[in-house]
Amino acid sequence: MPLLEGSVGVEDLVLLEPLVKESLLKNLQLRYENKEIYTYIGNVVISVNPYQQLPIYGPEYIAKYQDCTFYELKPHIYALANMAYQSLRDRDRDQCILITGESGSGKTEASKLVMSYVAAVCGKGEQVNSVKEQLLQSNPVLEAFGNAKTIRNNNSSRFGKYMDIEFDFKGSPLGGVITNYLLEKSRVVKQLKGERNFHIFYQLLAGADAQLLKALKLERDTTGYAYLNQEVPRVDGMDDASSFSAVQSAMAVIGFSEEEIRQVLEVTALVLKLGNVMVADEFQANGIPASGICDGRGVQEIGEMVGLSSEELERALCSRTMETAKEKVVTALNVMQAQYARDALAKNIYSRLFNWIVNRINDSIQVGIGEKKKVMGVLDIYGFEILEDNSFEQFMINYCNEKLQQVFIEMTLKEEQEEYKREGIPWTKVDYFDNGIICNLIEQNQQGILAMLDEECLRPGVVSDSTFLAKLNQLFSKHSHYESKVTQNAQHQYDHTMGLHCFRICHYAGKVTYNVTSFIDKNNDLLFRDLSQAMWKAQHPLLRSLFPEGNPKQASLKRPPTAGAQFKSSVAILMKNLYSKNPNYIRCIKPNEHQQQGQFSSDLVATQAQYLGLLENVRVRRAGYAYRQGYGPFLERYRLLSRSTWPRWNGGDREGVEKVLGELSISSGELAFGKTKIFIRSPKTLFYLEEQRRLR
Ligand code: ATP
Ligand code: MG
Repeated sequence: MPLLEGSVGVEDLVLLEPLVKESLLKNLQLRYENKEIYTYIGNVVISVNPYQQLPIYGPEYIAKYQDCTFYELKPHIYALANMAYQSLRDRDRDQCILITGESGSGKTEASKLVMSYVAAVCGKGEQVNSVKEQLLQSNPVLEAFGNAKTIRNNNSSRFGKYMDIEFDFKGSPLGGVITNYLLEKSRVVKQLKGERNFHIFYQLLAGADAQLLKALKLERDTTGYAYLNQEVPRVDGMDDASSFSAVQSAMAVIGFSEEEIRQVLEVTALVLKLGNVMVADEFQANGIPASGICDGRGVQEIGEMVGLSSEELERALCSRTMETAKEKVVTALNVMQAQYARDALAKNIYSRLFNWIVNRINDSIQVGIGEKKKVMGVLDIYGFEILEDNSFEQFMINYCNEKLQQVFIEMTLKEEQEEYKREGIPWTKVDYFDNGIICNLIEQNQQGILAMLDEECLRPGVVSDSTFLAKLNQLFSKHSHYESKVTQNAQHQYDHTMGLHCFRICHYAGKVTYNVTSFIDKNNDLLFRDLSQAMWKAQHPLLRSLFPEGNPKQASLKRPPTAGAQFKSSVAILMKNLYSKNPNYIRCIKPNEHQQQGQFSSDLVATQAQYLGLLENVRVRRAGYAYRQGYGPFLERYRLLSRSTWPRWNGGDREGVEKVLGELSISSGELAFGKTKIFIRSPKTLFYLEEQRRLR
């Protein structure tokens, strides 16, 4: 099926001819313009965000896909969800669904489609329905606390999420476990132009009734809050007030008590109020500049709400205690430092609250240990990022994507290999780019970039982002995937396009230049002990529980793991989890920068196709046998090509296929007859079959 004028392009990119970037883009565009947003590469689903409600979802479509095998109907996320679920239920194979793509490409919507499909087809009964309801209701709660309007997406997830849905032996849902990754906590205190803070703040102010507002000592108007960007109090098409009641009822469905909900909202309000705590210059008796709180009322209100004396809070915000083995030294912070401390506290409270909420949801939905379960994991995680200014966060995100690419390549090849084995067909080796070398550069124990960063964070003496960079430059100057201003490129020239504070990694998806500024700080992720101790002293049970290290009895001088080390170990756990399951891929693509329907920007899509490695994916898929299909469906499609099988055929499916292909004199090297499927080596043969079909 070469691209035909007026057609909607090929449904499976494996059939693309010629296989080049341009034809791939053209095919996606043609389909997109015809509202065909889904396209396959074998069993991978590519999804192009339609930015409009298409009439292809809901019970009627679910019913259709439920009764069909993968290639029978048009490409759809439902087909993938169906295949995964059936294989889990009937073949006892744990599944994972990996959804990747850049911000605004439709990952979260795709994950919800998968969840709602599975919820619709699995199990019945009151108990089962209540489990389903709890699982589904986790979405609005996590979105309220973890999503925000950004320039690129009005409902952008600012955290990565992996959810295991667990089933019993019949395939009815039992519960689940959610793991969250790297919440973008800097958003709590600062947002870019045109962006908002996390939805919950606006939802709370817009949706709380007068009584609740009064109890939380909040004003309805967003303009009074320094942590809320004043330009964008509202988002078109988003009703914060009604979302607020939806979030509250979702929390109740999940099993949060009224008391818990109240405490969560109190901590949320506390963060908002912290932003208004003004720190101003003061002078100590000796004339050294120090800081003090100039608006006592704010601190007092916070103190009253969480049961903490305002003096205690002020002391924690404006001074710092250094402890050595022998003595304690208290120093006053200057205004900059005190503001930094206040913001650090707000970010920490919020991100810990978010973790607490995830854990609380897990408490409700978790299945007892020891029960035998079948598992379907759904991963909705940030795609590869190249921003204008790439920092520590992009470095983490891209590292994670590098690892996911590794899983992808290894597992796709492994799956191919296994299928060939199952079908009794000899396996031929496939050449591909192995990105292990880049993963190692970043994560190798004691030698990778992350290890160097940790080493620098822990090293006594004067350390800074620059000493860290100098170390990298020294160690990796000859590494084929590392570049910096002082390392020479292959032509022995220094790179003058790169800033002095930068290094560059040649990722599988492209080169990214990282600015090392605040790498050390972000990796350390330390909260002054004065602050955690003050929080622990609060009477508020939830707030207090978020700062266990503030307990002086528990406080150890041992340093908590760095942000990089924590992320690395959570990525390692994720990888192990994914490797134990059968992978299914949804690759999401954003068609334009304007969140508009109908617009397809080829350049934008081209970049994403490259990050997602789509061409390589098609090549791997085509490397052995490009195409395979069960004997039954194949015969059904092509039996009109042979007089023996058309109009009637009474023999077996496999014999029928042999007859059809035999009569067309297709060379035997092109074909392999597996146990249940026919394999065709080159797409040309398939095009030929399609051509013949059209000529009849
Ligand atoms: P981020 O990485 O920022 O979280 P994302 O990939 O999760 O982005 P989504 O939030 O899923 O992106 O999608 C962005 C918006 O695009 C949605 O809010 C919705 O308006 C629209 N959208 C996505 N998928 C679909 C779909 N299948 N049908 C209709 N609209 C969609
Ligand atoms: Mg999202």
